[in-house]
Amino acid sequence: MEKYDVVVIGAGPAGLTAGIYAGRARLRTLVLEGMMPGGQVVVTSHIENYPGVGPTTGTELIAEMSEQMASFGAELKTAPATSIESRGDSFVVSAGSDTFETRSVIVATGTAYKKLGVPGEEEFLGRGVSYCATCDGPFYKDLEIAVVGGGDSALQEALYLTTFATKIYLIHRRDEFRAVPILRERVRENEKIECFCSCVVERINGAGGVESIDLKNVKTGEQMTHPVAGVFLFVGLEPKTEFLGGIVDTAPDGFILTDNDMKTNVRGILAAGDCRSKLLRQISTAVGDGATAAFAAQCLVEDDQW
Ligand SMILES: Cc1cc2nc3c(=O)[nH]c(=O)nc-3n(C[C@H](O)[C@H](O)[C@H](O)COP(=O)(O)OP(=O)(O)OC[C@H]3O[C@@H](n4cnc5c(N)ncnc54)[C@H](O)[C@@H]3O)c2cc1C
Repeated sequence: MEKYDVVVIGAGPAGLTAGIYAGRARLRTLVLEGMMPGGQVVVTSHIENYPGVGPTTGTELIAEMSEQMASFGAELKTAPATSIESRGDSFVVSAGSDTFETRSVIVATGTAYKKLGVPGEEEFLGRGVSYCATCDGPFYKDLEIAVVGGGDSALQEALYLTTFATKIYLIHRRDEFRAVPILRERVRENEKIECFCSCVVERINGAGGVESIDLKNVKTGEQMTHPVAGVFLFVGLEPKTEFLGGIVDTAPDGFILTDNDMKTNVRGILAAGDCRSKLLRQISTAVGDGATAAFAAQCLVEDDQW
């Protein structure tokens, strides 16, 4: 079995940063990624709040981070981690049929979009229902679509989708959007976006693909149907922590509990980025978490400090 000082699970901004710091500290480092490096960032259309980097795309930012990590010698392997088993002073991380022994583990598995849970959502996934504006936006050139959600992601991606669609119905179940004021202002000023607050989607309708959505105003009870060719859903996030099988403490919502040094309740297991219980889930905070977690792993491996 291959032996490492650190196995990082997930190659989003948190995992890649942990890989950069651990590799640079000359720890034997493996980064396991279940899909492709970049995590949520590669599906982000426009990043303008990562300090020191002008407006950029997620793909460009991740290409730089991945290259930087490789330059410090951290290995990247495409394989989804399936379990972590404690073996005295070390851990065995399984990824399918592969197993890796390591002194420390950094869990940086991020989040997945929550499902809306309405009829039509599963049926039309990939045929009009999408969770990724950068992936699917271009299919909706000159068409009318709906975006569901009220946070930063929903408003930011609705604005991006105006590049393609002629009209966007922005649907939010509450009275007011949660997104930061600058995004709210831009949405208000954009003539292509029509907002439906206090409204919920009850059903997504269609035949071969999406053709319309049924909405209900939760205050008045009014029901309406809007013809749309696509529905983009940004209704919250849930942590990808199920594979841990309860090995570390989590909050009731499944996010991993850590201290300020990214340490979990299990000696040798750290968590970084969006999968962790915290206030702000952004690239800048994920990067900070990744750096801290790698340093904490270094202290454990080199000086046996925890
Ligand atoms: C649409 C959208 C727009 C956003 N816009 C911005 C923005 O403008 N500015 C900003 O700062 N932030 C933005 N964010 C938030 C930002 O993308 C996240 O905070 C950041 O990506 C979190 O990084 P992370 O590494 O913790 O997790 P993620 O980016 O989610 O990466 C986690 C990685 O772990 C992998 N993984 C999961 N489970 C396993 C497993 N079992 N084994 C191996 N690998 C696994 C995943 O495949 C993924 O690659 C946006 C997010 C979205 C969705």
